[in-house]
Amino acid sequence: MFDLKKRHSFALPACANHVDVIHAPDDVRKIIWQDDSYILGAGSNTVFTSDFEGHLIVNRLLGSSIVELDDGYKVSLAAGENWHHWVARLIDQGIFGFENLALIPGSVGAAPVQNIGAYGVEVAKFIESVEGVDLRTGTAFQFTNKECNFGYRDSVFKRAEYASFLITSVEFYLPKAWQPCLEYPDLKDLPTDASAIQVFDHVVAVRQRKLPDPMVIPNAGSFFKNPVITSDEFRRIKQRHPDIRYFETADGQFKLAAGWLIEQCGLKSLRIGGAGVHQRQALVLVNSNQATGRDLTELAHQVRKQVAQRFGVWLEPEVRMLDNRGLLTL
Ligand SMILES: Cc1cc2nc3c(=O)[nH]c(=O)nc-3n(C[C@H](O)[C@H](O)[C@H](O)COP(=O)(O)OP(=O)(O)OC[C@H]3O[C@@H](n4cnc5c(N)ncnc54)[C@H](O)[C@@H]3O)c2cc1C
Repeated sequence: MFDLKKRHSFALPACANHVDVIHAPDDVRKIIWQDDSYILGAGSNTVFTSDFEGHLIVNRLLGSSIVELDDGYKVSLAAGENWHHWVARLIDQGIFGFENLALIPGSVGAAPVQNIGAYGVEVAKFIESVEGVDLRTGTAFQFTNKECNFGYRDSVFKRAEYASFLITSVEFYLPKAWQPCLEYPDLKDLPTDASAIQVFDHVVAVRQRKLPDPMVIPNAGSFFKNPVITSDEFRRIKQRHPDIRYFETADGQFKLAAGWLIEQCGLKSLRIGGAGVHQRQALVLVNSNQATGRDLTELAHQVRKQVAQRFGVWLEPEVRMLDNRGLLTL
């Protein structure tokens, strides 16, 4: 019996029986993909709402290489490496670029899956290629950045037909010519010539102030994505809610701040059983007191329903929720 409570940051009680842990490339070859298989990294974007009766494949591949070129660095990291550890380590070595993405929990292999992003930067900006093995056929793949089809918290790896694509390593390119990226409101206090270390320290401090630490209050970070809507829909909502928080995207659409929408519905601090909306950051749902999977699904339903009733927008979960059989659609 494999205890999943400590294997996902929302820490709901759950177990799995059929688990393969990958420590080395040889372990990959032995995996037999099944229709109910699920690939798990560090579990900070996955929520087990009940015991998992499928086949769990836990990736723990480690390794790294850094090659200095004239104008930058090629950094290759195995999928089981810890993301934040490498953000800090590269900055220590004078290799900059990842500082806005500091303190995002999880593994390197999951970073391309949802194209992790924070404070105005997405990891796709630095990804040269993603390597792995399609566990269904045993065929190796190497996708270029373009082939990954990155979008907002999205990539090909999120599509059902790529569920068996195990990422084994990610190759990044970090140019030597570096400029701080300070457009995000939380970074406006920094001087325009801030160093990468200053940006890193600032991002860490802001995150520690604003987000609950999963080791203290279990959570999975932003539970919902910020909804992206057309300009027509946006005009309609803005007429009724002139103070709405939003960002205009490069392609002329509008991204609404999901946390603000939840807050406006008066849902901050809403509790269902042991699950709740976080008091400081409404976009984060938390396991505040021995929540069950049922508490959390009911809470997520309530939040979505009330936001839809008030604003006419359905929030989509950012997290991967699983029940006993596999991915759960809210
Ligand atoms: C407190 C907190 C703050 C967070 N802040 C942010 C943030 O600012 N920005 C952000 O983008 N995210 C954030 N997240 C979400 C999370 O950290 C990221 O999604 C992270 O990349 C998940 O890594 P993981 O290894 O834990 O993934 P898991 O939860 O284990 O897996 C996530 C998805 O990736 C797939 N996957 C994992 N490893 C592999 C692999 N090797 N090959 C193929 N598929 C794989 C899984 O099947 C699953 O679909 C936050 C989470 C927490 C708990």
